[in-house]
Amino acid sequence: MKFEDKFENLVKKTIKENSLFTKKNKILVAISGGKDSLVNTYLLKKLGYEIFAIHIDLKIGKYSEKCRNACEKICKENKIPLKIYDIKKEMGSSMCYIRNAVQSKNKGIGNCAVCGVIKKWIMNRESRKMKADVIVTGHNIDDEAQTFLLNILKGSPELSFNTGPISKNISDKKFIPRVKPLYYCLEKDIKKYSIIKKLPVVYEKCPCSGDSYRIQIRNFIEERFEKEKKNLKKSFERISKDIPKKENSKLNYCEKCGEPCRAKICKKCELVGTSLLNKK
Ligand code: AMP
Ligand code: ZN
Repeated sequence: MKFEDKFENLVKKTIKENSLFTKKNKILVAISGGKDSLVNTYLLKKLGYEIFAIHIDLKIGKYSEKCRNACEKICKENKIPLKIYDIKKEMGSSMCYIRNAVQSKNKGIGNCAVCGVIKKWIMNRESRKMKADVIVTGHNIDDEAQTFLLNILKGSPELSFNTGPISKNISDKKFIPRVKPLYYCLEKDIKKYSIIKKLPVVYEKCPCSGDSYRIQIRNFIEERFEKEKKNLKKSFERISKDIPKKENSKLNYCEKCGEPCRAKICKKCELVGTSLLNKK
C-alpha cells in the first residue's frame, strides 16, 4: 500500500475507533501554520468532514506573519471558513508582551508554558462562541511521548493518566472536548505527508520556544536509537491504556472570567491577572 494511503487509513481508524466526531458534528480545527495542524485541515476536508478553522495570531513578528499567511492559504485553497483571532486586538498586546509581564511576576515559568495556557483558554472560549462540538488539535505520538517523559521527570506520572485521542473525564457544557486525529501518527510521517501534498507549512520553530524543557526532552528522545524511541512510545501506549482512569470530576467556573477550570480561578487568570482580561 502507498505511504499516503497507509497514513490516511491510520487517521481514519483513530477517528472511528475513538469516536472522535462524525460527519454531523461541527468540527473546529485549531491551526497554527505548522505541519500537524495543516495536515489535519487538509485531510479532514479530504475525508469529507464539514470543518471550519481558527488561527490565533500571536503577533510574534515575522514568524507570526508567515504562520497566518499559511493558514489563510490552506483555508482559501480548500474553501474552509477561517476565524483569525488577533491577540493584539482582542487582548491588547502581543504574546511576547503578555509573556514578559507574566514572567516578571512568576519566576521560572517557561515561554511555551505561558503561551500554552493562554492559547487553550482562547480556544475553549472561541469554540464555544462558534458553537463547535469539538476542537481538533495536531498533537501526535511524539508530542505525547515527550509529555509522558516530562511528567515522569516532574514526579507526576498521574498527569498522563487522562491522555488519549480525546480529552477524557471532563463533561461540562462550557468545556469543548479536544480531539487528536493524529494521535497515533509519527512526527516524521506527518512531515513526509505534508511534503508529498505540498501543503504551505511553516517548518521553522517558534522563535520563542528557545531551549524550553520540552525541547531538551525532545532532543534527548531524538538522540536515542530507533529501538529505544519505539520502546518509549510503546511503554507510553501500554501504560496509558492500563492505568485506571480517574473519576469524572466536576469543574468550577473561574471567578474572574467564567471559564471552566479545576480551581477557583483559572490558570490563565492566575497568570495574567485582571489587567489583560478579555474585553468580550
Ligand atoms: P502547541 O501547543 O504549539 O504544541 O500546539 C498544539 C496544537 O494547538 C497545534 O497542533 C494546533 O492544533 C493548536 N495550536 C497551536 N498554536 C496555535 C495557534 N497559534 N492558533 C491556533 N491553534 C494553535
Ligand atoms: Zn479565568
